Amino acid sequence: MMKDIDYQKIFHEIATELGDIDNLGEVATYIPELGKVNPAKFGIHLTTVGMNHFSFGDSDEAFSIQSISKVLSLTLALKLIGKDVWQRVGVEPSGSPFNSLVQLEYEKGIPRNPFINAGAIVVCDILVSCLNNPKEEFIEFIRHISGIQSIDYNFAVAESEKQTGFRNYAVANFMKSFGNIHNDVEPVLDFYCHLCSIEMSCQELTQTFLFLASGGVNPVTNEVVISPERSKRINSVMQMCGFYDEAGEFAFKTGLPGKSGVGGGIVAIHPGEYCITVWSPRLNPNGNSYKGMKVLEAITTKTQSSIF
Ligand code: GLN
Repeated sequence: MMKDIDYQKIFHEIATELGDIDNLGEVATYIPELGKVNPAKFGIHLTTVGMNHFSFGDSDEAFSIQSISKVLSLTLALKLIGKDVWQRVGVEPSGSPFNSLVQLEYEKGIPRNPFINAGAIVVCDILVSCLNNPKEEFIEFIRHISGIQSIDYNFAVAESEKQTGFRNYAVANFMKSFGNIHNDVEPVLDFYCHLCSIEMSCQELTQTFLFLASGGVNPVTNEVVISPERSKRINSVMQMCGFYDEAGEFAFKTGLPGKSGVGGGIVAIHPGEYCITVWSPRLNPNGNSYKGMKVLEAITTKTQSSIF
């Protein structure tokens, strides 16, 4: 167990030290509804596996979690069909942007990993096959593992993404041509756009993802969300693939498994220690939160704790 760390003090120090980067990066506007966020928002929430909480800034304000939900859809797919997931999607870093099409052609419609859009769309296809009411059952799953009944989709964001999701439709149709999408493209993309539209605060995301810091067990209820073996694997895929073509950079600078979303959120896990969520909507050119990446790097550097 790590020594007691005053994270609150560290958050204040980092917020002061990083203050001058507040105008760097751009809010995502390719999904028009996301462009409405106030770019100055900034929140942090850390919870230790011993249930100590540390918050900073706008940590209670809900935002669009976007691709962070891909970790939760993978978790549910693993619970439902186990290792058969890996017949349809790989576990290798892509080194490509999140919405890239290029590898799919020469890898015959099998996406590199479940966190690029193509891989997450395959996971959605698996869930559409397994569930009677995918949207209802998926949101119930999140409410159950988090214990937060108010978590919901933002239907305006889902619709905005459906109207403009030309690349995601292209990716899904392309994979269908290789036989790796079993359902019609429309219900799969409808489900995908909804799961990207889920809104949660830093505090809620941290509470939801805490099971990955504690071997698959929810430390509040002691319920087994997923086996320790699968918890390890989900963290491994986050480590290698959670930041697309910046995954190596995040491992290099921060040294924790994590997952970003174009809403500006990042969740990171220190297995056995804590879960942390940072939110700052301005993105760097790789589609990851500009300030969020810097904050997490500063936290593991100042506390001298990472998985490496
Ligand atoms: N909904 C977004 C998309 O499909 C998710 C991308 C992300 O958060 N990296 O483009």
